[in-house]
Amino acid sequence: MEKTLSRSSQQFTDFEDTVRDLLNAVPQPILVKDDRFRLRYVNSAACLLIGKTNDELIGSTDYDFRSKSEADRIRELDEQVLRTGQEITEEQEVLVPEGVGSLVIHHRRVVLATGQRLIMASILDTTAQRQAEADRRESQEQYRALIQLHPQMPWTADPSGKVLEIGPRWKATGFDPADALGAGWAKAIHPADLGNVEKEWSKSLQTGLPLDTEFRLATQEGGYRWFRGRAAARRADDGTILRWYGTVEDIDEERKALEALKESEARFRAIADDAPAMIWVTNATGSNDYHSRLWQETTGQTPEQAVGKGWLSAIHPDDRQKVEAAFSRAFDLRQPIRMEYRLLRPYGSSVWVLDAGQSRFAADGKFVGFVGIAVDITERRNAQQQKLVAQKQVHHMARHDALTGLPNRRYLREEFDLLCKAIAPGTKMALLCLDLDDFRSINDAHGRRAGDQLLSRVADRLRNSLMQSDILCRLGGDEFCVLRVGLNSTDEASSLARQLVAVVGYPFPLAGNPIELPASVGFTTGAAGDMALDALVQAADVALDYAKARGRGACVEYRPDMGLQVRKQQNLKTALRRAVENDELELHYQPLLNLLTGEIPALEALVRWSPRELGPVSPAEFIPVAEEAGLIDVLGEWVLRRACVDARRWPAHIGVAVNLSPLQFRNPRLAATVSDVLNATGLDGARLQLEITESVMLNDCDDNLQRLRELRELGAKIAIDDFGTGYSSLAYLRTFSFDKIKVDRSFISDLPDGRESLAIIRAVAAIGRSLGITTTVEGVEKQSQLDVVRIEGFDEAQGYLISRPLPAQKVLHFIKTNRKTFRAPSPRHTSQ
Ligand code: C2E
Ligand code: CA
Ligand code: CA
Repeated sequence: MEKTLSRSSQQFTDFEDTVRDLLNAVPQPILVKDDRFRLRYVNSAACLLIGKTNDELIGSTDYDFRSKSEADRIRELDEQVLRTGQEITEEQEVLVPEGVGSLVIHHRRVVLATGQRLIMASILDTTAQRQAEADRRESQEQYRALIQLHPQMPWTADPSGKVLEIGPRWKATGFDPADALGAGWAKAIHPADLGNVEKEWSKSLQTGLPLDTEFRLATQEGGYRWFRGRAAARRADDGTILRWYGTVEDIDEERKALEALKESEARFRAIADDAPAMIWVTNATGSNDYHSRLWQETTGQTPEQAVGKGWLSAIHPDDRQKVEAAFSRAFDLRQPIRMEYRLLRPYGSSVWVLDAGQSRFAADGKFVGFVGIAVDITERRNAQQQKLVAQKQVHHMARHDALTGLPNRRYLREEFDLLCKAIAPGTKMALLCLDLDDFRSINDAHGRRAGDQLLSRVADRLRNSLMQSDILCRLGGDEFCVLRVGLNSTDEASSLARQLVAVVGYPFPLAGNPIELPASVGFTTGAAGDMALDALVQAADVALDYAKARGRGACVEYRPDMGLQVRKQQNLKTALRRAVENDELELHYQPLLNLLTGEIPALEALVRWSPRELGPVSPAEFIPVAEEAGLIDVLGEWVLRRACVDARRWPAHIGVAVNLSPLQFRNPRLAATVSDVLNATGLDGARLQLEITESVMLNDCDDNLQRLRELRELGAKIAIDDFGTGYSSLAYLRTFSFDKIKVDRSFISDLPDGRESLAIIRAVAAIGRSLGITTTVEGVEKQSQLDVVRIEGFDEAQGYLISRPLPAQKVLHFIKTNRKTFRAPSPRHTSQ
């Protein structure tokens, strides 16, 4: 029994150990108390919790290790368990021994009905569980609050897109949030936006990609506001969509601000793009972000090309650097800029623009960049240029001769002044004046056009024969001038003069014929700073007069005493003009003798002038002066009238011979004047003889021939004077049927011995006879001379031997008393 008992007791002890081990392995604290509330068993977790060892705790009560109030409370619970046999669970917050924090403990008390009544208490730490619960509750609350209070109106939808819930703010649309569920939300969306929203939403539903779209929602007040709807899907681990979580956000203000901005920008662009000017805008860093349409059209650049600093490539390469520098400087200093430069057009040409830019500042004073406007000023620039050009042309024209392109006197003057400032004082210089001999007759003979042509060819030859540094000018008419600065030798000026004469001396071809244009040169030298240009030109001109007087192709250097002569010439001109005006001239008459009858058939009128201050001046001297001074027409008409008046007093069979200057043939009214005079004086035209020199016939000018015929028609006889001195005297006889040939006195003066002269007068006499032209000689001073011409068969003779020119009042007396006083030739002469 004892054994059994002992075995059973042993068996119980084994069991008890096993249970104890098991309970010790349980992580929850477990305590077992007897009915007198003494601890009978405590597992390891409970020991740990209470902070005492198993030995310390066994047999003790709660009063041993807890506060009295705590122990009382527990005792009460334990008694209740014992009394009722009902399990009690209660939660209690306890402080853990380390004081780390609190634990929420779940006490569970159970009465164990073994042989004796035992109370078992287990403690469960529910802190994490409680926390999770609280968290869940809170998140639910937060979510609710979120949905309730969220300014963005959250919503959720199932994977098919059906809206499951939506924030109460939906009410602001004027619709109940409940109405928005499913697809009810569509009612609140602006009809114009609905299509797009539906499209975007179904796209997201299909692809699972987030939704982001803007639309207008109705408002309670009526009208609409802008919203932005966004949603993203929550997915399961396998990627399937569980739910859509979305928000609807009121963006009305931003959107309207943006729209206002866009609109103002669009308005700016609309204005800028339609503006007839090019407009550009930069940002705060200085890179261009806008170019108006005109700018794009002008340059052919796209906005993408022009952006940043791309616009610089549209600047003309010659201006680019300058523009870039100026603009970046203006930008750095934030100063206005204004400049003109060229923009390249797409196909190579360029336009001029005036570009003006200035800095822009925001309302808060922040620098935001530059804005500029560029205007096409090509036309203005061109006009300006044309004006620069036109002014240049005017300037050039004022200083150049249109015919030859050579500089003129004004140019020479300006250039001379510049030169004199530039060169060292004392530098030797030469000034040469060149004048074509007898150019007037070329003009008369061939017409002005041919004359002009010849003049420019003369200019060309002169130009080509000079040095680059020489200045060649046309001073007017047929007068040219050369200025050479820096003479190397004393005879450089005279060799240059000869060179000029030589170069012009070759014949010029004109319409197939060689034309000779001999030139004379007068020149002078001087030192820079010593002589004014006018003085140089005047001196060269004086020398030129001397050269001309010397004959064709002469070169004469100025000498100071020449000035005196020139002044004399000037005085002569003035005096002659006065004499013509004041009727101070006189006519003398030199008789002609008819060698056959011994009668006086006519007298030649020779003009006389004896100014009181100068004494008698020969017509050989003053007629050229009258020609040069333009007095010859007046003087010629005076002589003609006077001669006709005087001749009216003579016997009717006696004629009067009047000399005509070749220059009088320039006057187309010559014949009319003669006719007027004949009419006015009542002289028979047949009594008038007109003596012309061969130069009138030079180059058989049609006009002159015509004038001769007109004179002939008046009944006047035309005599060719000074016959034999011209180049082709005989040829002239073919051109016009002269009434009389008057052999020049130079052929008479060496008679009777000069063989050539004799041969010539013999030939002239023969021609006269065969052509029926009256032949006359002049300058007969000796009887022997008279004898020769008589023997050779001349019709008339004139000369001192017969009579000197007579004052008008002595003519009638001469006619009466000197008849037939000239003897007939001696037989000796006749026999030859
Ligand atoms: P001319 O027509 O040959 O006139 C003849 C010139 O010879 C005159 O000179 C006359 O005085 C001069 N003379 C006449 N007989 C002799 C002589 O035996 N020996 C010499 N050595 N000379 C003689 P003058 O009067 O001095 O006239 C010179 C020239 O002036 C004229 O040459 C004529 O060409 C021009 N002339 C004179 N009067 C007029 C005029 O009224 N009108 C124009 N256009 N020319 C005139
Ligand atoms: Ca004469
Ligand atoms: Ca003569």
